[in-house]
Amino acid sequence: ERPIEGLIAALEETAGARKQARVRHAVVHWFKMDLRHSDNRSLALASAKAKEAGVPLICVYIISPQDFEAHLTSPVRVDFMLRTLSVLKDDLAALDIPLYVETVDKRKDIPHRMLELMEEWGSNHLFANMEYEVDELRREARMIHQFAENNMSFEVVHDTCIVPPGQLHTGAGKQYAVYTPWYRAWMAHIHENLDLIELYDRPEKNPDAARRTFKTLFDCRIPDAPKNKQLSDEEKKRFHGLWPCGEHEAMSRLDKFCDDAVTSYHDKRNIPGDSGTSGLSVHLASGTISSRTCVRIARDRNKTKRLDGGHQGIQVWISEVAWRDFYKHVLVHWPYVCMNKPFKPEYANIEWSYNMNHFEAWCEGRTGFPIVDAAMRQLNHMGYMHNRCRMIVASFLSKDLLIDWRMGEKYFMEHLIDGDFASNNGGWGFSASVGVDPQPYFRVFNPLLQSEKFDSSGEYIRKWIPELGALSDKEIHDPYNRGAGTKAKKQGYPKQIVDHKGARERALSAYKAGLESG
Ligand code: FAD
Repeated sequence: ERPIEGLIAALEETAGARKQARVRHAVVHWFKMDLRHSDNRSLALASAKAKEAGVPLICVYIISPQDFEAHLTSPVRVDFMLRTLSVLKDDLAALDIPLYVETVDKRKDIPHRMLELMEEWGSNHLFANMEYEVDELRREARMIHQFAENNMSFEVVHDTCIVPPGQLHTGAGKQYAVYTPWYRAWMAHIHENLDLIELYDRPEKNPDAARRTFKTLFDCRIPDAPKNKQLSDEEKKRFHGLWPCGEHEAMSRLDKFCDDAVTSYHDKRNIPGDSGTSGLSVHLASGTISSRTCVRIARDRNKTKRLDGGHQGIQVWISEVAWRDFYKHVLVHWPYVCMNKPFKPEYANIEWSYNMNHFEAWCEGRTGFPIVDAAMRQLNHMGYMHNRCRMIVASFLSKDLLIDWRMGEKYFMEHLIDGDFASNNGGWGFSASVGVDPQPYFRVFNPLLQSEKFDSSGEYIRKWIPELGALSDKEIHDPYNRGAGTKAKKQGYPKQIVDHKGARERALSAYKAGLESG
């Protein structure tokens, strides 16, 4: 399965048709996971095309409940995107550009509906940024052909990664499966192609007549979330307070992070009780900021123009943003990871436990391991979890509980506000030792040691498990084995559901047996 190659072939085959397509009354940009009007490559190209032809630019966003289902998009993420669309609509309206938003129930109808809209608006030119999930790539490839058959042009361009997938190869011409050498190649490639982090212009203002001609599009309202993705009033209040939306918010968050925290990022990024990370993942996942802009602005705050020099904090932060590119490259090159298969096929035969009591305890933050429980409660309350804790809870589920990592991956997608298939799948694969990690399976996180090392004062645990608030810094990591069992019990905090040492042995045997039977 090589969907990206199919897409590239489609783009090449129809390049001629694209050039010939006559610009009629408008040029259209289709928003997907790129909900911003600044530094948006496809939008900038569409705007330039419209300007050259002297016609207006129209923007469109299609809400697809089936896509939300297929991608397990969480209600809180859907809500964030819908709120963001309102901000985007206003920003574009200030430039006399309409943003038309419509719900299309069946995802298979999207290409046809898009053709209908193009016809209605008298447009022959559609632009969009590329999404790398298999279904999306296949759909775009088909659409490029369909458009060409209708003498129309559909241009799909790389935007979401800083270095587009397919650009980096090992000395033997292969795709990298290990982060560190990949990262060196990524860094060198950017330094050789500095335009990769240059800013794309905002779209030009539309001709005055656009307001009248496309009045109905300006007047359209943003639809409500599909029924199964709606938030309660309490959730709305909570999440709107926690996660203000839109690209202006994303930019001010980036600026604030660069002013206050980026230079100490390398020291603080692993401490979940400290707000030492950027909190930008929700914006990167919805495209309210580009990774290009993140890296460019961090670089501009540095004392050197090199991305791998100067402040250690800035270098490390850029190397974390690179992980996002890395996992998207992996997804494009090994698309079977989209099909519920482990990156390392030799790990497909592990006999997982499907103990639902254990799984529910994990989901609800009742495992008796305070660091795990605090993290899961953070996820359930905020739609977000600190990176260190994502690794701890993922290792705990797949190793200590020996539960199929795909159940955890799914739970994350259903609850994260920053859920991103490639990063989530990559993170789960890494933590469960079935992904792109050169370490063998015997690395099993010890939750107690992780807790003492990264939350030494227990600040994070106290925040999310208030019933343990009165315990000392030592007791809080393991109440029942450190003389605070009575206090913990009185507060209703559970005992550990497994013994880590025994669970570790069980996991190692199961992984070994799985490998041997493969
Ligand atoms: P910062 O530390 O400020 O990093 C800046 C940006 O770099 C992040 O916003 C993110 O876009 C990127 N980044 C940082 N670390 C990683 C990483 N390990 N992998 C990929 N990108 C990274 N990230 C998601 O965006 N969506 C997910 O669904 C997701 N699921 C994860 C699941 C597991 C099991 C694990 C271990 C990690 C997962 N991550 C995911 C990666 C990481 O945990 C988050 O990106 C990070 O916690 C977001 O917080 P931040 O924006 O403050 O990050």
